[in-house]
Amino acid sequence: MDRRSITVEIDIDSEEMDSELVLHTGGCHCKRVKWQVYAPSSVVAWDCNCSDCSVRRNTHFIVPLERFELLGDSKEFITTYTFGTHTAKHTFCKVCGITSFYIPRSNPDGIAVTLRCVDAGTITHAEIKCFNGQNWEGSYEQTGIALCSKGKE
Ligand SMILES: [Zn+2]
Repeated sequence: MDRRSITVEIDIDSEEMDSELVLHTGGCHCKRVKWQVYAPSSVVAWDCNCSDCSVRRNTHFIVPLERFELLGDSKEFITTYTFGTHTAKHTFCKVCGITSFYIPRSNPDGIAVTLRCVDAGTITHAEIKCFNGQNWEGSYEQTGIALCSKGKE
């Protein structure tokens, strides 16, 4: 994708709604891991209280995998931690230790982008929703979070 912004239609409760995607960039603290992601300028971000998210105060928004792209030689600096069901791939920078994105258990077909790792200027609003990771199964059903990685293009 080489356009600065694209328009897609996203089905939400069977209502058709246009959502303009913009190009965001970001990465880890030392900037060895850099990426770009297409997402709305107004995002829904999840504040999760699971054992991993709570210790790093993680708040993230989820995009379909194809809207996320690593830049340069970022891959060389990424390592992965897993625990529990080992479904989530907690990727982080080998040098500075920051998880700027990861593959969440709720959306193995998507990417969870750490809200605070997005470069300033392109996110105009974030609606923070709570994901009760301590009751993962119940929260997964209630929130419909699985739909967050189902892009329709
Ligand atoms: Zn780093």
